[in-house]
Amino acid sequence: MRKAGKVFAAVMITALVLSLSSCAGTVAGISFWEMAIAAGLPADKADDLFERPQNYEIAEPEEGEIRFTHTGDDEESLQKQKVTSKGYVIEEIDGVTYVSGILIANKTYTVPDSYDPGGLTEECYAAYSAMRSAAAKDGISIFINSGFRSYRTQTSLYWGYVARRGMELADTFSARPGHSEHQTGLAMDLNSISDYFGETAEGRWLAEHGHEYGFILRYPRGKSDITGYKYEPWHFRYIGVEMATEVYESGLTLEEFLGIDSVYAVASAYDEYGRN
Ligand SMILES: [Zn+2]
Repeated sequence: MRKAGKVFAAVMITALVLSLSSCAGTVAGISFWEMAIAAGLPADKADDLFERPQNYEIAEPEEGEIRFTHTGDDEESLQKQKVTSKGYVIEEIDGVTYVSGILIANKTYTVPDSYDPGGLTEECYAAYSAMRSAAAKDGISIFINSGFRSYRTQTSLYWGYVARRGMELADTFSARPGHSEHQTGLAMDLNSISDYFGETAEGRWLAEHGHEYGFILRYPRGKSDITGYKYEPWHFRYIGVEMATEVYESGLTLEEFLGIDSVYAVASAYDEYGRN
């Protein structure tokens, strides 16, 4: 609320200053209304203050907020985009969600059962190979324990855990089918699937250097309320060197960095998949 207040104050001051020098309600062809929206003011508040230009319509927000952007100078190029709480663009292509170009698979966002890269993507595997070589030079041995997993494989894995340990516990460490990063071909479990892996030389090296090769430790300690999963020192996700470095340096989880949730929309997997 404090941030919104500051934004609001900034908009008002800007509008006041500008209105003294111009009565047209626009500056360089951009209306006050547009500026207010760009500054983060909700459309109804902007409507109270300024006249909404023609051709601007607000779609009902479904998830995230709706942002207006110009891709060119003309009115036709004005686009509505779905964005996260941090302002990153959400795109859905063939049932797959990308946030700022990063494919997202978590408890909120799924990939279709037909999504099947057939293995780790070439880019991800090349990055892994470079990381393994660099680690070896430091006397660190890393290997892939579990890489790509198909929807089908995840189905038997998940329901196996549910049968043995119950759904509530299974949901803390195993993704429901369609929700697993392993199905994207962009994630891997390295070396040992053990809580102590993070304290080993290998686990520490990966946590420290993974981003240099485009990987982030996806489920850090103490962040299970945000990521939806318990601490997994072995699970690394490829997002490219530039983004991985930004996320690493921010000290945030991918969810926090991008401003997205990781929560199942359907509480029970029995309901989600129509099982009894
Ligand atoms: Zn994993």
